[in-house]
Amino acid sequence: MTHSGYCMRCRAHREMKDVANLSMKNGRNAVKGACSACGAGMYKILPAEEKKPKA
Ligand SMILES: [Zn+2]
Repeated sequence: MTHSGYCMRCRAHREMKDVANLSMKNGRNAVKGACSACGAGMYKILPAEEKKPKA
């Protein structure tokens, strides 16, 4: 699975390499990777798809 994100260094959307999935303490998922063009670290928070019943 490939992810892409906005690279701050290239100031453009780039494909992410070395993608690692993370889960944050607040229950959200994120992916961490490196820009395929310049190698800068990229971080992307994925939308939460949890089904939390709201009381
Ligand atoms: Zn880049």
